[in-house]
Amino acid sequence: LVSRKKKAEDTVIDINGETVGAGGPSFIFGPCSVESYEQTAKVAESISAKGLKFIRGGAYKPRTSPYDFQGLGLEGLKILKRVSEEYGLAVVTEIVTPAHIEEALDYVDVIQIGARNMQNFELLKAVGETNKPVLLKRGLAATIDEFIHAAEYIMSKGNENIMLCERGIRTYEKATRNTLDISAVPILKQETHLPVFVDVTHSTGRRDLLLPCAKAAIAIGADGVMAEVHPDPSVALSDSQQQMDIQEFNQFYTELQRFMKEY
Ligand code: PEP
Ligand code: MN
Repeated sequence: LVSRKKKAEDTVIDINGETVGAGGPSFIFGPCSVESYEQTAKVAESISAKGLKFIRGGAYKPRTSPYDFQGLGLEGLKILKRVSEEYGLAVVTEIVTPAHIEEALDYVDVIQIGARNMQNFELLKAVGETNKPVLLKRGLAATIDEFIHAAEYIMSKGNENIMLCERGIRTYEKATRNTLDISAVPILKQETHLPVFVDVTHSTGRRDLLLPCAKAAIAIGADGVMAEVHPDPSVALSDSQQQMDIQEFNQFYTELQRFMKEY
């Protein structure tokens, strides 16, 4: 169902007045984790000042260590909802278990399926049974074919509003957190009719690479870019090494817009 052979036209998804998959790239910015109302609102203010439409932020965090911050859970969803209403933004947030879906539907505009859950088939089927748009991230070590099949799981249950997100894969290379597989973008665009995002934060894990990789994503035809922004990354409860602060974010977005105009 996700194949270009089944449907030649691009899938276009309308979320909160933002057209994803047509009319230029969409941007999803926000903190790694929702930590407090104040922290989330600061980022939201700077997103909405740019005329952007999405905020991301994790309330349920799939962390490598069980002793690391696990997210605020339902309280985090409530913060996202409040901030989204105050700043006119659509909420993109990760859901990690089918048990949380029903409760989350009231708070969330886009359900994110994280890399670690790309092949959690029961979760894929459960989000497929909702009518919420889904942002499906590529697994840490998933082939493009496995990634496409994961999207197929969702669509096979009736949900056609799927966005794919390349977020880097595991290789032997240590210079970056993951290896951004930039060629996955045109391959996914050829093989499927779905919008394709590039997460420059988790793929690189390096602030100095966010802008060049975002430019590369847009140049190669991505429908959107995701990156993490935190008011004070040095005290962030997750991914403190790689999030942009507000000033860096302003500069990043200004330079990216300049690039898009020239391009
Ligand atoms: C995230 O986007 O919050 C995240 C945890 O990313 P990934 O699932 O790609 O590691
Ligand atoms: Mn993160």
